[in-house]
Amino acid sequence: MNNSIKPVVVVSKCIEFAYCRYNNNIISSDVVKEMKDFVEFIPICPEVEIGLGVPRDPIRIVQEKDESLKLIQSSTAMDVTENMLTFAEQFLNSLKKVDGFILKYKSPSCGTKHTPYLATIQKGAAKLATGPGLFGKTVLEKFGNLPVENEGRLKNFRIREHYLTKLYTLTRFREVKTSESMHKLVKFQERNKFLFMAYNQEEMRRMGRIVGNASKKSFREVIEEYETHLHTLIAYPPKYTSHINVLMHMLGYFSDELSKEEKAYFLDELEKYRAGWIPLFVLRSLLKSWIIRFDQSYLKNQLYFDIFPEELMRFDLKDTWRGRSYWKK
Ligand code: SF4
Repeated sequence: MNNSIKPVVVVSKCIEFAYCRYNNNIISSDVVKEMKDFVEFIPICPEVEIGLGVPRDPIRIVQEKDESLKLIQSSTAMDVTENMLTFAEQFLNSLKKVDGFILKYKSPSCGTKHTPYLATIQKGAAKLATGPGLFGKTVLEKFGNLPVENEGRLKNFRIREHYLTKLYTLTRFREVKTSESMHKLVKFQERNKFLFMAYNQEEMRRMGRIVGNASKKSFREVIEEYETHLHTLIAYPPKYTSHINVLMHMLGYFSDELSKEEKAYFLDELEKYRAGWIPLFVLRSLLKSWIIRFDQSYLKNQLYFDIFPEELMRFDLKDTWRGRSYWKK
């Protein structure tokens, strides 16, 4: 099911796609490598696009006295600020479809945070502040509601899970929006019920009322209102306590089918999750096995269990009893 949707993601071209860094290098990222089979990537190198060759002398961001930012090649003192901003505007405006971004950490062009803003172009100049690069800044201004991350942060399991959840959910929503079908919007809200409950219960209810459309608004009005709340709902990841709430709700669907011992076992595992001893997927898997066993059709359709392809959250092989042996015979 997940394979039927393919998010469109703009990625810094030097991450896994081309040797286009200033020193003719490439950045390796296992996350981007694995996503290649599941995502439609649009690789782009803004510095090459504005005519800086490969290899090239590096460029830096200088913060002026009035706090404006200049993108300057230090060895030649060439100011490429306008070129970069014009390119960013034109490129981002030309995108017909986009669901997310993966951009190079700390780059003066692609960075989304932590890029140094320097006092001058001289070597060893003082760092006055940090922030996004000039292309990254334009991305955040135009597409701040979409998932935007750098390749380094995506190595973190939790950051990656939230990024992928947001990416796949907003891709599904884009398809509903394009379809202009109220029926598809109702289905979208229904299938995401438990996922949305985990993210933000209040927003989930508000969105339910918007979809209910008691005042008979047009699809356009409904979808615009809904989209604003969806962006609020999915902006930040759920707390573990919200997952516990969702899991308890789901357990209720099996109150007649499960034995006392099975319920007690689940509640014990839930306490272990609360204490941080086991991860969420242990409980999700347990519930999923009951959904299959009792053919629970409502829960079977919930995207909470099937947000994105599971291959994208693979563990490190060395943690799965594969790879080299640590014990010599
Ligand atoms: S960080 Fe951006 S501008 Fe720099 S090499 Fe990579 S893609 Fe090109």
